[in-house]
Amino acid sequence: MSGFDGTAGIVTGGGTGIGRASALAFAGRGAAIGVIDIDLAEAQETVRLIGEAGGRAIAVRADVSREDEARAAVDQVVSSYERLDFAHNNAGIMGANGLLAEIEPADWERVLTVNLTSVFLCMKFELPYLVAQGRGAIVNTASGAGVHPVPNMPAYVASKHGVIGLSKATALDYASLGVRVNAICPGTTRTPMYEKFAGRTAGFEQIRTARIPLGRLGTAQEIAAGAVWLCSDEASFVTGVALSLDGGRLIS
Ligand code: NAD
Repeated sequence: MSGFDGTAGIVTGGGTGIGRASALAFAGRGAAIGVIDIDLAEAQETVRLIGEAGGRAIAVRADVSREDEARAAVDQVVSSYERLDFAHNNAGIMGANGLLAEIEPADWERVLTVNLTSVFLCMKFELPYLVAQGRGAIVNTASGAGVHPVPNMPAYVASKHGVIGLSKATALDYASLGVRVNAICPGTTRTPMYEKFAGRTAGFEQIRTARIPLGRLGTAQEIAAGAVWLCSDEASFVTGVALSLDGGRLIS
């Protein structure tokens, strides 16, 4: 895979899970990374791990679902590294579970805002920098649930379908400006989000694993590898795709 020497990028939700693995993977290939997270201590720990491995990164605290904070965070990364070459917009939450009639409007709003509006806001503030450079790549974290619904998570499913639609629409509009935009659709991946969710249901892991043809959960590193590839020059002819990284879940 091509290196990222001399480039700078953003990873949102980079404090834990898939985002941390992604930040480490990009930094390991030579990119300077702005690790943006609502949890500053976790973002700083990711930066520490990157530094320990010989890479460059800064931690930025922001709630990327808020316009002012998303704008300031993107601007801070660009002013630190004086460029922006790629972004992995990955921050997300699971939200409340239940049948649609049981979901409170405030819970719906929160999931849509954190999972979908944040991607809109981050891209809105990242794209002008990428366009100014005449090239760049964005990858947004959707989910297998953005392609095929899972039960009892209507807000999450809707938000992740939205991330895929928004990624494709943006890919179409920005292709001629030199910017590629793609989505990744992780299947069940062992991260803090997964542990929280799995902890609520006895036997959850066995049920989930039984539906995955490759017979196991994904790792955050395997998901990060897809994000890195989509932002690399190896994927220079790829835009507007929703790449499944799910051990075959969607074909089972
Ligand atoms: P995680 O909970 O382990 O990590 C998410 C990170 O995002 C955390 O560090 C959290 O602090 C941060 N974050 C949350 N809200 C934020 C906000 N408003 N602003 C800034 N940062 C915020 O979750 P994960 O499993 O690593 O998930 C990462 C992404 O992958 C999410 O978008 C999730 O929906 C998606 N995903 C995860 C799985 C899975 O099985 N783990 C499957 C499909 C999709």
